[in-house]
Amino acid sequence: MLHYSCDSCKRPIDHVSDVRHVVKIEVFPAVEDQACGCQDSDAGTADADHLEDMQDVLEHLDESDLADLDDSTRSLRFDLCDACRQRFVKNPLGINLGKQLYFSNN
Ligand SMILES: [Zn+2]
Repeated sequence: MLHYSCDSCKRPIDHVSDVRHVVKIEVFPAVEDQACGCQDSDAGTADADHLEDMQDVLEHLDESDLADLDDSTRSLRFDLCDACRQRFVKNPLGINLGKQLYFSNN
């Protein structure tokens, strides 16, 4: 039997009485613009050249390059309890909203 706990507050999430919320975050470099920009002209030969280039790049990739690649493209998945889900949707990036409130030290 699988038991889930909230990835934020670590509280166990009971599969009967609690609703488990799944948060999926995908991080990847946005490169669409570059890809369509450079292939508009002389598309006939560019494709073959591009494939050869890609093969060249793939052959010369070592493990550290692959690690970099993995770091720039990442899929994250979290389980949240209902209370943490409500907090998450209000402030997904965890930005400090307290700035607007001014607390005096007096
Ligand atoms: Zn929680």
